[in-house]
Amino acid sequence: MTASPQSVEPFDLVIFGGTGDLAVRKLLPALFHRFLDGQIPASSRIVGIAREALDDAGYRAQLREALIGVCAAAQLDVFLQQVFYRPLDARKDEGWNDFTAFIGAQPEHVRVFYLSTSPELFVDICTRLGQHGLNQGASRVVLEKPIGRDLASANQINDAVGKVFSESQTFRIDHYLGKETVQNLLVLRFGNALFEPLWNAGHIDHVQITVAETLGVGHRGAYYDRAGALRDMVQNHMLQLLCMVAMEPPSSLAPDAVRDEKLKVLHSLKAIDDSNAAQLTVRGQYRAGVAEGAGVPGYPEELGNSKSNTETFVALKAEIANWRWAGVPFYLRTGKRLPSRVSEIAVTFKPVPHSIFNPDAGTLSQNRLVLRLQPDEGVKLWLTIKHPGPGGLRLRHVPLDMSFAQAFGVQQPDAYERLLLDVVRGNPTLFMRRDEVEAAWRWAGPILAAWADSGEPPRPYAAGSWGPSAAVALIERDGRTWNEDSE
Ligand code: NAP
Repeated sequence: MTASPQSVEPFDLVIFGGTGDLAVRKLLPALFHRFLDGQIPASSRIVGIAREALDDAGYRAQLREALIGVCAAAQLDVFLQQVFYRPLDARKDEGWNDFTAFIGAQPEHVRVFYLSTSPELFVDICTRLGQHGLNQGASRVVLEKPIGRDLASANQINDAVGKVFSESQTFRIDHYLGKETVQNLLVLRFGNALFEPLWNAGHIDHVQITVAETLGVGHRGAYYDRAGALRDMVQNHMLQLLCMVAMEPPSSLAPDAVRDEKLKVLHSLKAIDDSNAAQLTVRGQYRAGVAEGAGVPGYPEELGNSKSNTETFVALKAEIANWRWAGVPFYLRTGKRLPSRVSEIAVTFKPVPHSIFNPDAGTLSQNRLVLRLQPDEGVKLWLTIKHPGPGGLRLRHVPLDMSFAQAFGVQQPDAYERLLLDVVRGNPTLFMRRDEVEAAWRWAGPILAAWADSGEPPRPYAAGSWGPSAAVALIERDGRTWNEDSE
């Protein structure tokens, strides 16, 4: 059974970058699905903004083509009547008066300004929103990642945004936090008496977080080459997942209760810098290989630049210096052109202290709780049981396996569906506070600096493999292996 959707106040949602990949592929489909569930009040408006010279009809036609596969055309056309377009260059004055008058026509609406553009435009957009007095009533701004490329540039963006919007109006999105499984991590940990007593260094051997993509860099090469896997994935999504696993129980789900606990984890991460980066991190870059059954070019060819030193793969060993987690490694691994598209958190428990079983019965494997974020969101708890039937006592390692789609018979909503409506409702629990972003950059910055100081290029790996062999060595040195269940 699914819960019935909660209503939201009428709103105007302005998407800067309304013709871009994220808007067309994720944000508009998410809004359409909420519309189909009756959650978009009839007077609400969705306004796309970009430089391209389009009118409402032209924008609707573009979106119609992109969304037509999602649902019946009749419903799509009704939805599109609530969608508008205003051409604007965030860096120029023209068009802003018209846009201001358009938005000002419904002053009682909640206003959401979603900045789905390159972060270089965030300051210009917020400054102009401020100059035109558009931050009125219940207004909020949503900032897409990445927020800057280091601590200094993140501070610059946050300072400029902060001149126009207060911290409580600023929603820094990390769509991983809107995923069903991440919500479920909170419920599993704090809604069951079973796990929390074991959730510490006394009982947990190690944690692995994997975010693997099969795709290459594609048309996002220009952006990606300036970022790399550490900035694109680790500094934000993966650290947020790590925080959700490692944080102390918050006193409630109040936004600051959760975010205060995540911040403490970020502050407790042990530094990785020039002194230890070579032992604790591996960076790689894909070369030509086979992905999804077809030959694919390497990163340098895809990018058209054979000299790029940008990493498309990172594996690292993080540690949290506090009482709960001292000595428990958190292995993080992410990359492009890996053999499967999978995002998951695997928590491996310590072995039993003493085996009472005959060696012939087989090996005792460690319990493992695997939370899969994509594809096929769900939870697996690996247990040791007796192999059924006669033939002596034989041990088997099997999962209690719950796929959410199968267990509940519904497709889970995309993370953006939940997060967009959380913004309209003004609920920032699943969004990053400024101090979290800063703490994440404070930890990631010295890793980037250590790589730059070493002058070592990223290690090559074949597209379609699990990254450089050094990533396997990183975990095997500790007598452990990457979770094969995900491979
Ligand atoms: P994109 O496809 O390059 O789209 C950029 C959008 O910004 C276009 O609509 C573009 O249209 C508009 N734009 C560019 N310059 C502008 C200006 N001066 N004034 C007004 N509009 C301007 O980028 P994207 O992939 O959608 O990514 C958008 C943001 O989301 C980035 O920060 C990215 O890192 C982040 N993000 C993207 C994804 C994803 O899956 N794509 C995932 C997570 C985060 P015009 O050129 O016509 O102006």
